[in-house]
Order: sequence, then structure tokens, then C-alpha cells
Amino acid sequence: MKIDEILKKKRTLSFEVFPPKKGSLGIEKIFKTIDELKALNPDYISVTYGAGGSNRNSNVEIASYIKNQAKIEALAHLTGGPSSYSDIDEIVKKLHSEGIENILALRGDKPIDFNDDYCKTFKHATDLMEYLKDEDFTLAGACYPEGHNECESLYEDLAHMKEKEQAGAKFFVTQVFYDNEYYYRLVSEARKAGIKSPIIPGIMPLVSHKSIPSIKNMCGASIPLDFRNMLEVYKDDPELLEEFGINYAVYQIEDLIAKGAPGIHLYIMNRASIAKKIYERLENVFSKLFWYISYCIFLFGI
Ligand code: FAD
Repeated sequence: MKIDEILKKKRTLSFEVFPPKKGSLGIEKIFKTIDELKALNPDYISVTYGAGGSNRNSNVEIASYIKNQAKIEALAHLTGGPSSYSDIDEIVKKLHSEGIENILALRGDKPIDFNDDYCKTFKHATDLMEYLKDEDFTLAGACYPEGHNECESLYEDLAHMKEKEQAGAKFFVTQVFYDNEYYYRLVSEARKAGIKSPIIPGIMPLVSHKSIPSIKNMCGASIPLDFRNMLEVYKDDPELLEEFGINYAVYQIEDLIAKGAPGIHLYIMNRASIAKKIYERLENVFSKLFWYISYCIFLFGI
């Protein structure tokens, strides 16, 4: 099913997985993770794609497992990057033959030593979207609550986000953020700019102290000082730090849901256990809310 159709009916819950680093080694582990994630009833699972097309075969294999074995909707990431038209044609053919209906179309990160020829054919995500627009896929695009690091301002980035919608993106998934205000600002400014598609917040629980220094560089997300200080308090206790990181993600999600986010996309770093903990804590919140509302109805007859 096309994900934009699901989004018209309900708030979605989705997860992101990434292919194993070395070819097909470890792919069975990803399949097991997907089986575990199935128990949490996700609306779709997305699978990343190497910027230079490095893991293209395992990307399709995993997307196919999600769709055809686990019977969950799949969102295959696809980067234009240095690919040629025929590289993309080859992947598109495989995705069609596996029945994949949804693509997150990206440019991909440029390597440090890139030259002007690097993204020759697909300079930007929009070029890939234009190329795919006559194929029968629902296209999605990436967006950046704190602005993309190559842009002078959030507004310049928003102008390109609008071009993505015009090029066929039916919904957006955001980069990671740790301060919900950035997401609310993005949505509000996007609406003012005339962007109408759903903007799904992407949440990545921060569960390891050693990943903190690379977060800003890796995805441009800043960490609020209070959160950063608390992570420091737990730095010598990995278990407590993980618990704290998960609770922080739950706090972000509750706030996003309360304020009407169209879905939640969880970057779970291939760890189903993290998704499960978040899911259970959210379930607790929802069941408490259910009993509270029932109690109010009983007391006040409303
Ligand atoms: P673009 O939309 O091309 O934007 C790149 C920069 O160029 C931005 O600053 C933008 O404002 C600007 N720009 C866009 N269009 C134009 C234009 N016409 N003229 C001038 N400037 C323009 N990377 C991977 O390698 N594999 C993945 O699977 C992957 N998945 C991701 C999933 C999500 C949800 C997100 C948020 C990011 C993901 N990334 C992935 C990272 C992504 O590839 C990088 O952030 C990359 O640097 C930008 O990709 P993009 O599709 O946003 O590019």
C-alpha cells in the first residue's frame, strides 16, 4: 500500500533499519530485527541506502523481506548521489519486481573529498524525484528541522523543500532533533511557505555516551544543554544512560503526539529492544489516558 494513503487514515508509527556494513554478512540479523519489530504493529519500515550505492543489493533484499515476508509496508531509501540513469533504472526495476511501492528519494551525503562531478546526473533530491515521477511509486523527501548544513538559512532550505513537494514528494520525514521546538518551527514555516504534505518527525533515542560528540556532525542535530548535562551525569552507567535516553525520546514523542504530529518515525539503530521499550512506555501512557477519560465520563457524564 502507498504510505500517503495510510497517512490519510491514521497517525503512523514507523522504524528505520540499515543494511549490514559488509555485503550480505549479518543480513539474517536484520531479518530477525524486522520480525521482532512486526510485533509492534508498525505501519511501515524504512531501509537506508548507501550514499554511493554501496549496499544497493542488500537494500532491495531487506525492503523485499519487509514487504513480502514480514508483510509490512516498506519505504526504500534511494540516493541519486553519483549514480547514472542506468544505475537507478536497475534498482527501480528490482524494487518494482519486489512489489515495493514507496521510495524516500534523496541526494545522499557527499564524501569529504568529493569533486564537482560527484553528483553530475542527480545534483539534488529533486532531480531523482523528477526522474522517478512517471514510475508508480509514492515518493517521500527528507527535511531538516534545524536546516540542512549546506544551506545559508532555514528559509533557503524550505524553498528547496517546496521544490521537493512540487517534484512529487507526498510526505516528508525529518532529520533527527532533540528539541521539539525545531520541529514545530519547521512545520509552521513550511505551512507558511505553502508546503501541504505531512511532515513526520524522526526521533532517535540517544542511548550511548560515545555517540554524543558525533551527533551534530553526523546529522546536524543540536543537543539541548539540560539534556546534555543529564547525559553527562549517567556517563559511567551505560544502563542508566540508555534508560534516560529512552525516557527522553518518550517525552519527545508524547509531546509530538499531543500537538498533532502525523506520525512518528523511529531511528532505532537496528535494535528492536529499543523500539520495544519505547512502544511499551507509550502504551502505558495511552492506557492511562484511556482510564482517565473513562473515569471522567463516569464522574461527570461527559
Ligand atoms: P537535497 O534535497 O538535494 O538537499 C541537499 C542540500 O542542497 C540542502 O542544503 C538543500 O537545501 C540544497 N538544495 C536542494 N535542492 C537544491 C537546488 N535545486 N539548488 C540548490 N540547492 C538545493 N543518506 C544516505 O546516504 N542514505 C540514506 O538512506 C539516507 N536516509 C535519510 C533519511 C532521512 C529521513 C534524512 C533526513 C536524511 C537521510 N540521509 C540519507 C542523509 C541525506 O542524504 C543527507 O542529509 C544529504 O546531505 C541531503 O540529502 P537530501 O535528499 O536532503 O538532498
